[in-house]
Amino acid sequence: MERVDAVIVGAGVVGLAVARALALAGREVIVLDAADGIGTETSSRNSEVIHAGIYYPPGSLKARLCVAGKLALYAYCAERGIPHARCGKLLVATEENQLPKLEAIKAQAEANGVTDLRRLSAGKARSMEPALRCIAAYLSPSTGIIDSHAFMLALQAMRRRTAWRSRSRARWSAAASATTGSCSRSAASSRCRCSRGRW
Ligand SMILES: Cc1cc2nc3c(=O)[nH]c(=O)nc-3n(C[C@H](O)[C@H](O)[C@H](O)COP(=O)(O)OP(=O)(O)OC[C@H]3O[C@@H](n4cnc5c(N)ncnc54)[C@H](O)[C@@H]3O)c2cc1C
Repeated sequence: MERVDAVIVGAGVVGLAVARALALAGREVIVLDAADGIGTETSSRNSEVIHAGIYYPPGSLKARLCVAGKLALYAYCAERGIPHARCGKLLVATEENQLPKLEAIKAQAEANGVTDLRRLSAGKARSMEPALRCIAAYLSPSTGIIDSHAFMLALQAMRRRTAWRSRSRARWSAAASATTGSCSRSAASSRCRCSRGRW
């Protein structure tokens, strides 16, 4: 039976980021995934947007982590050469009656610490995106896009320098047999026993 400090179930972007943080802190970790490789589920089927943190309820953990995470993510991408672009995003009103909502979104963004939204005239917005029809807009300069798979590969690269092991085709189950590539878990501590593929 393998004994480690932490068993991380799921090699999506969250599991890989947690594994990286724990491994950097000197923990011995094992990352399990039921699939054949990393990031085969939601983490490779998303829009690859680096969100600015505009829409979450002010004061919520999501709002705080999104804004802090955005800054950390841009810094990490630059440091590791992960393909990304700080391309910005346009928030638009297409009718007069949408103007109050547009201003409410701006106020919510500010309450979340996103203080860089810039008001654009319709003409300026159209000069940036000629296919756009709007009467007013805000530019969110800190919204961007990222190559999510390159990001996950960069997180996983930490495995080479730390006590991080991985097992693919290993489905975590509290009641699983330990001999079929899945894992058993004791009540006292997480213990892992796997016999199948690695990545
Ligand atoms: C349509 C869509 C668009 C999105 N767009 C964006 C975006 O633009 N920007 C953004 O920041 N976020 C976006 N998200 C959200 C983002 O993709 C998710 O928050 C993120 O991918 C979640 O990562 P995860 O590691 O928690 O989950 P996942 O990527 O789903 O990873 C979970 C892993 O756990 C494994 N697993 C599950 N159960 C077990 C088990 N019992 N044993 C072993 N392994 C198991 C699975 O095989 C999987 O690999 C979007 C989400 C969706 C659905």
